[in-house]
Amino acid sequence: MRVFEQLAAKNHEQLTFCYDEVSGLMAIIAIHDTTLGPALGGTRMRAYASTDEALTDVLRLARGMTFKSAAAGLNLGGGKAVIIGDPKRDRSETLFRAYGRFVEGLGGRYITAEDSGTDVRAMEWVRMETNWVTGISRALGGSGDPSPVTARGTYAGMMACAKLRWGSDSLAGKHVSVQGVGAVGYYLVKHLTEAGAKVTVCDVDADNLKRVTDAFKCEVVAPEAIFDVPADIFAPCALGAVINDDTLPRLKVEIVAGSANNQLDDERRHGRGLMEKGVLYAPDYVINAGGLINVANELEGYNQERALKQAEGIYDILTSVFDIARREDIPTHKAADNLALRRIAEIGKVKSFYIPGANTRQDRTLRGVS
Ligand code: NAD
Repeated sequence: MRVFEQLAAKNHEQLTFCYDEVSGLMAIIAIHDTTLGPALGGTRMRAYASTDEALTDVLRLARGMTFKSAAAGLNLGGGKAVIIGDPKRDRSETLFRAYGRFVEGLGGRYITAEDSGTDVRAMEWVRMETNWVTGISRALGGSGDPSPVTARGTYAGMMACAKLRWGSDSLAGKHVSVQGVGAVGYYLVKHLTEAGAKVTVCDVDADNLKRVTDAFKCEVVAPEAIFDVPADIFAPCALGAVINDDTLPRLKVEIVAGSANNQLDDERRHGRGLMEKGVLYAPDYVINAGGLINVANELEGYNQERALKQAEGIYDILTSVFDIARREDIPTHKAADNLALRRIAEIGKVKSFYIPGANTRQDRTLRGVS
């Protein structure tokens, strides 16, 4: 494990290894970049096969959060944490409280949230030891389920795609195929049917499928057939790597725009492949930033109306991404990275001049001073 070489490779700022004998906690917190603000990112719990595997994962995920926050226009940096352990067998109040104390020890440089393997309950245990945690239940003053905000942002992003492709952002009469109608997919289908779009859905979970078809008018296809549906827009809302060597040639759509994370199996090849096929791709981490916008809102006192409004801003952000892609003749996922990097570089310069006490609104909020 060549730790400093790994930090230097993608310019990570800080790595914290956390161990607690009583609870058996083994965690790694990675902070990638705090130019824009404190690093925010979830805590993933997984039975990693080795420390190296956990380290590779946390470094990659932390860097992804830097880009996501920057592109979303948030004053947050990128970070992530992993707890090494089986979420079913090893989770306990003691473990998450020990973890919470390590988060507290970072003094607000890292703010955590739930991720795969952790949930609202786990974050409530973390909250007992630190205020640097988001994704708490609505009942405790937190932001609760992020999926309505993610769906609103995804829908706004689809409208931006439609505007570029067809000259109008109305989705009335457009045919959208949706892969996965879980938490986000459900609300997305709601927006689409209300807008007058024709919707085709699929899911591997019969209950989730029934919930959507009972509530909204939509057609159903088998999960494997979703890639072959001739439609205007394909919305991946289930799992990652769905744009791959098998599915790319099968797609019969003009736009790919959905909430799933890491949609491109091989970012470089499949991002370019979509571009060459003439398919407009809404970069996943930009169009699905509603979830992050939702938890970021918790830092200033949660208000869902404000979070939904902010998620609608994804329309303008994607429009900027598409402008960069056109001007620089590059795939849209690359253009999103460039947008994020430029914002970090520019704001980094603005922040470089000295202010006594650094009494900006964000600094005050984070210190809990109104
Ligand atoms: P979810 O688990 O509630 O829903 C996913 C749905 O996809 C489930 O109904 C599942 O049965 C279905 N599915 C799984 N494999 C499938 C397959 N092969 N074919 C068809 N359907 C399949 O998850 P979610 O919260 O709705 O999130 C959906 C996607 O969006 C995920 O990739 C998630 O990482 C991403 N995302 C979610 C949020 C959020 O706010 N929940 C925010 C950002 C990104």
